[in-house]
Amino acid sequence: MRIPLVDLKANYLSIKAEVDEAIASVLERGDFIQGQDVKLLEQEFAAYCSAREAVGVSSGTDALVLALMALNVGKGDEVITTPFTFIATAEAISQVGATPVFADIDPRTCNINAAKIAEAITPRTKAILPVHLYGRPAEMGAILRLARRHNLYVIEDAAQAHGAAYEGRRVGSLGDVACFSFYPAKNLGAFGDAGMVVTSNPKVADRVRLLRDHGRRDKYRHVELGVNARLDTLQAAVLRVKLRRLDAWNQRRRAVASLYRRLLVPDLLALPPEDRGSESVYHMFVVRTPFREALRQKLQDQGIETGIHYPVPLHLQPAYSALWHRAGDFPESERAAGEVLSLPMFPDMTPEQVKRVALAVTDVLQGLQQRQAVA
Ligand SMILES: *Cc1c(COP(=O)(O)O)cnc(C)c1O
Repeated sequence: MRIPLVDLKANYLSIKAEVDEAIASVLERGDFIQGQDVKLLEQEFAAYCSAREAVGVSSGTDALVLALMALNVGKGDEVITTPFTFIATAEAISQVGATPVFADIDPRTCNINAAKIAEAITPRTKAILPVHLYGRPAEMGAILRLARRHNLYVIEDAAQAHGAAYEGRRVGSLGDVACFSFYPAKNLGAFGDAGMVVTSNPKVADRVRLLRDHGRRDKYRHVELGVNARLDTLQAAVLRVKLRRLDAWNQRRRAVASLYRRLLVPDLLALPPEDRGSESVYHMFVVRTPFREALRQKLQDQGIETGIHYPVPLHLQPAYSALWHRAGDFPESERAAGEVLSLPMFPDMTPEQVKRVALAVTDVLQGLQQRQAVA
């Protein structure tokens, strides 16, 4: 019996009747562009994040681009971010003409290290763009203090962290603006591409609303040049059904994580830390071991699917060769890239599935360690 990394079909079947009906209503109404579900989802998602406003957009990447545009981040500006993330984080910075400046991660959490951010600030720095990686909030207290001291914007990349909380506050309400992805496999996933910009600053929300829809105030009055990055009504209708279950699904992810934590042997591999004051929603359950490749292969042989998030840090990607980085520039990100392994994690995962994965991981690692001890 195969155990997938994520199970989107199980998730769909658990809400089929309701979600099919929501889709059918959009088809019957025909309000495909900026329809009523978009407006309602925006209100509901803003409330969910304890923020004043949310603006639906076409993807998480577009959310990042539009947030940067709305804050007038562009040519000549630097934005500090992590090299250990999905490329969209830095790509958005480059897309608006600004330069991504990397700061290395804290190896314990794999999130950006606030002390390294402080070292990377220059007179050109305009914003800090932390990622809440794997569903775990970044070190927001220290990051917000730095931003205040140096008069910088904070843009949260919350694409992996819908519902996560830092010192009792939901991500999305911590920085100046936050960007969410509803890519199908995210904790809150659409049936295609979708995203959201969340902010409590009405000026930023208004600007994102303009920019996502050709800079228009009304049908034929374009007050500035924007883009087409609207959220489909169909996706919004699906997301409204799913948002009502998000907390329950995140609870189940946390339950899967604590079962993994009970069953896995910490002497054999590094487990994700559970910190007080920081509530992860476990988009991924990521362990670390120097035996990553062998473990991954042996799990695959047993029908257990795993992932690597991420195998190449951004400063070593060919697409960023123009930044002239080399191996050794961000050692913690490079080490993590060689050791991280994402185990199966989804809300519908059964305790039996978790046990099978944990037992297989322990078995394989014990075998590998014994072989190494003998050699
Ligand atoms: C998924 C993701 C994005 C991009 O979202 P899309 O909706 O795929 O464009 C950005 N940043 C991070 C950290 C992500 O995981």
